[in-house]
Amino acid sequence: MAVIVLLGAPGAGKGTQAPVIADHLGVPILGSGDLLRAAVAAGTSLGREADAYMSRGQLVPDATIVRVFLDRLEQADATSGAVLDGFPRTRVQAEALDTALAEAGRRVDRAVLVDVPTEELISRMANRRICTANGHVYNLASNPPEQPGVCDLDGSELVQREDDREETVRARMQQQIPPLLDVVDHYRRNAVLATVDGRLPIEAVSEAVIAALTPADEAAR
Ligand SMILES: [Zn+2]
Repeated sequence: MAVIVLLGAPGAGKGTQAPVIADHLGVPILGSGDLLRAAVAAGTSLGREADAYMSRGQLVPDATIVRVFLDRLEQADATSGAVLDGFPRTRVQAEALDTALAEAGRRVDRAVLVDVPTEELISRMANRRICTANGHVYNLASNPPEQPGVCDLDGSELVQREDDREETVRARMQQQIPPLLDVVDHYRRNAVLATVDGRLPIEAVSEAVIAALTPADEAAR
């Protein structure tokens, strides 16, 4: 039984690592957006409750989201655990999740932070260019096209998305990083936090993430 929370700022590579953990442990990935959509589509009472908020353009309350996660954790494919991706996003959500898991005799076993300095995240995103024909992704620093401004694969023009402009990225970081640090602090206090250096090559990050799931001091905790 392993409930793993995967944490990272936007662009830190969390989305790449979630399937690595899921494959390693043989557990599903639970993302809040997917779960809410699935609950709404299934028409459960919880789904209808969530839908009532979303259809009014309101945020779904933490207590409802936590119940959606717990419901999902009770399904057959999650009996040996799950990777939580994109939840909890705030300290209040993390505390609500702890309380609800404790009532079900479960707990967050590990919180893995894919850690990348904010300035590097900003430059990663600000260097991203997308091809207009097929959405091929380039990075001017780490994966530049052979010819500036032209897609290697289909010759179409490379552009920067509005979302990737430095000012936009900076504003997004300023909004999302403080609550992330609160959640990181919460799991540090609970002694389940593992921090992985997200600046390493992707394969090395994956190895470190797997290693973080089976700490040498497991018995000592
Ligand atoms: Zn292309």
